Parts: sequence; C-alpha cells; structure tokens
Amino acid sequence: MSSPPSKRRTRASAAPRQTARIGGARRAIPRRLESAAARQARAGRILAVLQSHYPDAHCALNHRTPLELLAATILSAQCTDQRVNLVTPTLFSRYRSAADFAAADPAELEELIRSTGFFRNKARSLIGMGRVLCDEFGGRVPQTMAELLRLPGVARKTANCVLGTSFGKAEGVVVDTHVGRIAMRLALAPTARDDKDAVRIENDLMSLFPRDSWTFLSHAMIDHGRSTCSARKPACDRCPLRSDCPSAESITTR
Ligand code: SF4
Repeated sequence: MSSPPSKRRTRASAAPRQTARIGGARRAIPRRLESAAARQARAGRILAVLQSHYPDAHCALNHRTPLELLAATILSAQCTDQRVNLVTPTLFSRYRSAADFAAADPAELEELIRSTGFFRNKARSLIGMGRVLCDEFGGRVPQTMAELLRLPGVARKTANCVLGTSFGKAEGVVVDTHVGRIAMRLALAPTARDDKDAVRIENDLMSLFPRDSWTFLSHAMIDHGRSTCSARKPACDRCPLRSDCPSAESITTR
C-alpha cells in the first residue's frame, strides 16, 4: 500500500543532506526520490555504459607481483598514481622481496619515496608490511581480507585493490577519491553522508552492483573520474552517463 502524499513529503524532507565537492566547493547533491528498484535499474544501465566505454579498465599502478601492487597501493595514499609510477621502478629494483622491505634502512627508503608525500609514515608502513609478511605469512602476500588488514598501512581500499587486481577475488569495491565523488554525484550511495564516507559508499555500491563487477567497477569509475567526471570541472556535456546522473543538470548550469 502506498503512503499518503503528505507522509512521503515528511520522509523526503527528513532524508540526510548529501554533499560532494564540485568545482572546489562542497555542494548539495540534488535530492532524488527514487525507489530501490529504480536505483537498481539505473545502476544496471550505468554499469553497461561503463563496460562499453572503459572495456579495458585496469589498475593504473604499475606492478608485476602482488607484493609490488601492495607497496604501490600503500604509496598511493594522498598521491597520484602517476607520481607513484615514477618512484616504483627504482623502489622495486632495490627492494625485491618482503624481507628486503623488512630490512630496509628507514632513511634510505624515505629518500626514495619522498616525492609521494607523507614519506615517513609510508616508509614505516612499508617496513612494517615487510616484517609482518615475513613473520606471519612466509614472506608472501596473503589472499584474504582479514589477513591483509593485519598489515601496517593497509585498510579496506588497499586490501580490495590487491585482492581484486592480483588475486581475482572480489571482496569489496575500492573507494578512492574518484569512486567516492562519482558515487555521490550519481546518487548511488543513498546511506552515505558525503564523498568521504567510504564505508557506507562501499556498502551501497556492493548492494547495487553484482559481485563479479566490483573490481571492474572500481577501475572504470576511476578512469571515468580522470577522463570526464573530474573533481573541479566535470564534463557533463559529453558524459555518457549523463542521462542517468541526477547531478548533470545542476553542474552544467552553474
Ligand atoms: S553527468 Fe557530470 S556529474 Fe554526472 S557522472 Fe557525468 S560528468 Fe559526472
């Protein structure tokens, strides 16, 4: 039985105000009164468009092994993938195994990764990662979420990236700055407060998209963020998702 119109208005006005950064400022995402079924259908269309526009979407961090991807992902915090890719060739030639990271001289490692920012914390994480890998996992990168989360510097985003990209295991959706921003602009994260609310965004995306699409979805949304839906100047006019994006009109007309 449908609710009376007056009650529907009350519930809508009580819905949390959602925001995302657009053009350098934080703005409210246009409210979209949408049923769960309609949102699910829209998510299906969005996935189809992403599959057709970004068929080769993949992790942009250069790596050859799970250990290299783990290290690169730790370095990518608050840093662009391009910057990390400039640093990792030298890093990976100097540190080839978990034992190499475990035995690293902090000052030498810090100097190598200095340009990625937060280099002291990242060096600590890389050395700690190497030690835990050697002490608890025989020097190998583990393949479960619970085990990966035991490593210093590793949270769900990094663990999801390694599990999905290196091991083909979809345990969740990588929610980085691009994915968070685009999920909010597309109104695909109804429970999230804003684009920094990574846990709720991930849960909402996991409930909307089929599990076997999660790894692709992360990479494709990141590609879309870089090519079209940028933080400062989203190109809504030429966006293939425009017809299913409630933010398109508000951003284009500003
Ligand atoms: S229409 Fe605009 S805001 Fe929506 S996904 Fe495309 S570029 Fe981003």
